[in-house]
Formats: sequence, C-alpha cells, structure tokens
Amino acid sequence: MMKATDLVIEEINVPGYEKVIHAVNATEGLNCFIAIHDTTLGPALGGTRIFPYESEEAALKDALLLAKAMTYKSALAETGLGGGKAVIMANPETAKTKKLLYAYAEVVDFLNGQYIAAEDVGSTIHDMAIVNEKTPYVAALPVEGSSGDPSRFTARGVYWGIKAAAKTLWGSDSLIDKKIAIQGLGNVGAKLARHLFWEGAVLYVSDLDEVQVENVCREYSATRVDKNKILFQECDILSPCAMGGIVNDQTIPKLNCQVIAGSANNQLHHEALGMELMCQGILYAPDFAINAGGIINASVEFDEGGYRASHAMARTNKIYNTLLSIFEMSQAQGKTTDQVAFQLAEYKLKNKLGKREKPIRFVV
Ligand code: NAD
Repeated sequence: MMKATDLVIEEINVPGYEKVIHAVNATEGLNCFIAIHDTTLGPALGGTRIFPYESEEAALKDALLLAKAMTYKSALAETGLGGGKAVIMANPETAKTKKLLYAYAEVVDFLNGQYIAAEDVGSTIHDMAIVNEKTPYVAALPVEGSSGDPSRFTARGVYWGIKAAAKTLWGSDSLIDKKIAIQGLGNVGAKLARHLFWEGAVLYVSDLDEVQVENVCREYSATRVDKNKILFQECDILSPCAMGGIVNDQTIPKLNCQVIAGSANNQLHHEALGMELMCQGILYAPDFAINAGGIINASVEFDEGGYRASHAMARTNKIYNTLLSIFEMSQAQGKTTDQVAFQLAEYKLKNKLGKREKPIRFVV
C-alpha cells in the first residue's frame, strides 16, 4: 500500500496480470483501477473509461477484461505496445472535473510509463490533455505531434473489416445495397456511417441520443431503429459500436444478420458464443482485430520520425488483409474466428513479433 497526499494506492494480485492497482483519493472523489496485463511487446497503452459502475467488483472486472483485450489487439496489429486499461468509477456527465482528472493523472504518473493513458468511453482527447498537464504518460492528444482522435482510424478499420467480411461471404467487397445496422452513433459509429454511406450501403441506425440519430438519418439517408430492436434488425451486417457483451445467451437466438463486424470491445459475453455464431452461419469479425485502428494510430506517435497520419492510415488499411486471413484460417481449421485471432496474437506475443526495440522517450 502506498500513500502520498490523499492518494491511496493498493496493489492487487491478479494471476496472469503484470500489475493491477486500485487507487482512491477520497478528497478529489477518485476511485479507479488500472490493469496492466502484459508488456512483453512494449509499454501498456489503453483507454481511460469513466463510467458509473455499480460496484468496485464490476469496475475491476471491466478493467481486467479490457486490459487483456488490449494486449491481444496490440499484439495482432504489431503496434509495439502492451495491454492495459484504466477505469474510473464516476458519471462522466456530472462528476468529470479538472480536480478528478488531476487526481487520476497522479495515479498514471505513479506507474512511471508502464501504463500510457488515452481516451475511451466517458473520456475525451481534451480530458487527456488535462491529464497530460500533470503527467507525460498520455497519448492521443489534440496537439501538434500527437496522434489526436483515434476514432477516425477505428472507424476506418471497421470499414475495412466489413469489406473483408463481404469479400469472404459474397465474393466481392462491394457494399452497394448491403443492409448494415449500426448500434451506437458515437465517435466511431457516426464516422463509420459516413464511410458506409459513400460506399452505397443501406443504413439502419440506433443510439440513446435521439439528436445524433436524427443527424445521421438526415445526412446518410439512414433508417431509425428502436434501441431495443437494432440488434435483431433484419440486415446483412450488424455493426455493434456501443458497449460490449451484446452477443449473449438472450440475444443470440434473435440475431437476424449474416455478419457481425463492429467496434465495440468484448462483444461476445462468453467465449462459447463464438462457436454458436459459427453454427448459426454468422461470420464474426473478432472485435480486437477489427477495432485496432485507434491503437494503431496512437502507436504511430512513438515512431522514430514522429507521428504521420499517412503512416497510421497505411497500417490501419492492413486490417482488411488481417481479417481475410482470420476468416480463411477459421474455415480451413474449423475453429471460430475468435479462436484463430487469439491464436495468431499469441503466436506474435510468444515470438515477440513487432516488439518495441527502443524505449519511448517521454518529456518528463
Ligand atoms: P462513444 O461513447 O463515443 O459512443 C458510444 C455510443 O453508443 C453513444 O453515442 C451512446 O449513446 C451509444 N449507446 C450506448 N448504449 C447504446 C444502446 N444500448 N443502443 C444504442 N446506442 C447506445 O464511444 P466510441 O468511441 O464511439 O466507441 C464505441 C465502442 O467502440 C466502445 O465499445 C469502445 O470501447 C469501442 N472502441 C472505440 C475506439 C475508439 O477509437 N473510440 C477504439 C476501439 C474500440
């Protein structure tokens, strides 16, 4: 247990994880967990989720799951980064103050670069700029030389992943007249809608935010779908771009699509659902393979020559080939696409493919 100012940091021993901490600063209203899963290939980079979790157990569970997914995502995309994630137990609408973000920055700083923070659900690149006032260990900032908003690259990667699925199922990656249902029109979903509209797809969309739904429907001739029905919309491709766990024992019998390909993390509520999707003839693009555009973009800011958006785009475009290979191997080996993606990521981790050779230099 470590105590400095009003910050109390407790290390939690979680088998399979390099470091997990629980940090509380009661004066500043901070209660957060940071999980570092694996740094074999480089320092752990992952988003900062700010969410009103109902319990500390729920928050810790989310941090652990998300951190592990980051390890596999980065390994598969060969970003030279490890996997980590931070979760702050707070309502981002009401409790996200400068004081809270400074208190969080103190925790990130304590980890001395083992964990690099970025934005995630409930936080923005502007929040991360505030965190960066107190610690250098932050990426994806809205400033010159940094990689900025990751969601435009995540959306682009999902677009390529959808095209790879189309190619695999229908022999052509054209999306003309393909019916695509998007759940969630936030940072990623709205940008994805734009890519798909210009490609000629027919869009069905849903979000909790009615204004956002109206905007997307107007701009891209999309059809509004009730938020309780979007997952079961009759369509060619379902693109979950909101929260995880949407493929579960309750939803799976009612799915009405041929492909699931979206940005949400941890889409399968449990592993066995991958096989159930396969048996139902639904092609699933593993979330950590298709949504790697954002982490790929962030990793480019640590390149020798500095950040170049064109480099990030070229690497994000490779998601198309990665997914084609995963789909092909899944068919050839009779394994789920999720199993194949994990297998590939584990191979890269074991053989240290894409390992960062030189340490990242932070200006402390
Ligand atoms: P966001 O918070 O900007 O958007 C999420 C949207 O989903 C919000 O508009 C919200 O109102 C909506 N939503 C929530 N629950 C819903 C429901 N039940 N039905 C319909 N809409 C609902 O988040 P984002 O940055 O767009 O990310 C979306 C997902 O993709 C998240 O799971 C995130 O972890 C994942 N992801 C994002 C990135 C990135 O670069 N932003 C990278 C990788 C993965």
